[in-house]
Amino acid sequence: MKLDLLAIAAHPDDVELTCGGTMLKMARRGYKTGILDLTEGEMGTRGTPETRAREAAVAAKILKVSWRGTLGVPDSDVQAARGYKLQLAKVIRELRPRTVILPYWEARHPDHYNASTLGYEGCFLAGLKQLPVEGEPYRPFKILYATSFEGMPPTFIVDITQHYEARRRAILAYGSQFRPAKSERKQKVYLAIDELDPKMDLLARHYGQMIGVKYGEPFLQKELMAVDDVVTLPVRSI
Ligand SMILES: [Zn+2]
Repeated sequence: MKLDLLAIAAHPDDVELTCGGTMLKMARRGYKTGILDLTEGEMGTRGTPETRAREAAVAAKILKVSWRGTLGVPDSDVQAARGYKLQLAKVIRELRPRTVILPYWEARHPDHYNASTLGYEGCFLAGLKQLPVEGEPYRPFKILYATSFEGMPPTFIVDITQHYEARRRAILAYGSQFRPAKSERKQKVYLAIDELDPKMDLLARHYGQMIGVKYGEPFLQKELMAVDDVVTLPVRSI
């Protein structure tokens, strides 16, 4: 399998929330896309790993990804440990993605920022000839960071207006997370996640507005962008 684009994140539903619209847009363009969840999300307050796996499969279908897998790192223990890096390097060698999307490297949840480091280092190690894992050495060409929740100035924004409704359905496919059972709704403790739908709408509008469209998803890359043609650059200035 040779993927064009692979998104790596800590928990099932992280990719849907941060770059689901972009994943779908690229799949609809004919690119082969994939999602690697580092954990099964088994520490989540709601839903069993089985339920979440079912939900992840439904969401993957909506986002038209060609491949979705789990690395098997324990939830709440994501870290750039040697063993996990080797496991990840093996998957990178199998999938050979040209571009990889990682979570931004600063976050509130340790799994999220550790996923960023683990993702980067796994991709790097995958290119080392002497690495003691199966497969041909391979290193992705481009690494992008999804910055949705972090408020960082992005390097660029992808217009997901045409894909927003499907992304919303993919997010809401995680019924165990975002649609609490009636008995749960009466509980005094509400997770902020219950307000996620309007929050996601607001965030996507916020980033969309920055490039003059309805909905957008922000990304950051460490390199500068190279431009060939300054005459046809998008996004109106005045
Ligand atoms: Zn997460």
